[in-house]
Amino acid sequence: MRVRVLGTAAGGGVPQWNCACPGCSGARAHPGWRRRHASLAVQAAEGRWYLVNATPDLGEQVEECPELHPGPEPRRTPLAGVILTDAELDHTLGIARLREADGIEIVATAPVRNALLTGLHLGEVLTPYARLDWRPLDPGDRPLAEDSPLAIGAVPVSAKRPRYAAGLDAADDDAPDDDAWVVALRLTDRTTGRSLLYAPALATWPDAFQRAAESADHVIVDGTFWSDDEPSPAASARAPPPPWGICRSTDPAARRGGSPHSKRAPCTPTSTTPTPSTTRPRPSTRCCGNWASRWPQTGW
Ligand SMILES: [Zn+2]
Repeated sequence: MRVRVLGTAAGGGVPQWNCACPGCSGARAHPGWRRRHASLAVQAAEGRWYLVNATPDLGEQVEECPELHPGPEPRRTPLAGVILTDAELDHTLGIARLREADGIEIVATAPVRNALLTGLHLGEVLTPYARLDWRPLDPGDRPLAEDSPLAIGAVPVSAKRPRYAAGLDAADDDAPDDDAWVVALRLTDRTTGRSLLYAPALATWPDAFQRAAESADHVIVDGTFWSDDEPSPAASARAPPPPWGICRSTDPAARRGGSPHSKRAPCTPTSTTPTPSTTRPRPSTRCCGNWASRWPQTGW
C-alpha cells in the first residue's frame, strides 16, 4: 500500500489567511511549520492514484507530490478520482479545481453526495466543464478500482452535517440523522492483509471506530485541541461552546490504544497544535486571537 500524506491541517490551514496568531505568524516566518489541509493520495494501481478529500489546496498538493504529476502525454494524469470522508467545505472545495478533467470520479456516502448535489449544486456548476462519475462509499469493503489490490470501506463516525447542509432534506436512501455524514476510511491491501484507518474528522470516539482502530495496522486520526476550553478565552461570546467536532489531543478516549501493532499519527492540527516539525512550546490557551472568526467559519 502506497499512501502520501498531502496535508494535515484543519480548516483554514496553517497559516490561515486572516490569522496573525503566534502559530500562523510563526508559520509565515518558518515555511517548515506550514500545514496544508488534511488529505491523502492513495495508489490504487501503478500510475493510478486517488485523493482522499479534495481540499482548497488541491492544486498545490498535486504539484508537491511527484506521483500525481501529469505525463508523459500532455493531458494524461495519474489522478483517477476523489474519495470523500465528509461534505465539509475544507474537504470538497478542491473538486472544482479538477474541472479541466474530462470526468471526475467521486466516491462518497449517500448523504455526502446529496449535500454536494443539492446543497452546493456541484452537478449544476461542474457538469458544463466535466462529467461527474459518482460511486458509493459504504461499510462494505469494495475494490478501490478494478485492477487494484486495495479495498476501501467506510466506518461511520458522526451525523454532523456541514453548516450549508443543515436544512437539506434527506435523500431517498438517506436517513435524516444518518451517521454516514462523516466517516473514517478503511484501506486494506488485499494481498498483504495490512490496513490503514484514516479519520480526519472525529468529534467523538464511537465504539465502532474503536473496533476499527483495533484491527488496523496504522491509524491516522483527528486530534487537535489540548482542552475543551482552549479557544474560548480568545473567542468572545460570539463563539458557541463545544462540541468542537474534533477530538482533544488529551482526551483519554482519543488515547485509547488499538491493537499492539497499531501505530497512530495525528491529523488536522490547527495553528495551536504542536507538531513534530516544530519546537514551539505548548501554546497558550489565548494563542489564537481569531478563534471567534475561525471557529464559525469552519464549524469545528
Ligand atoms: Zn492562527
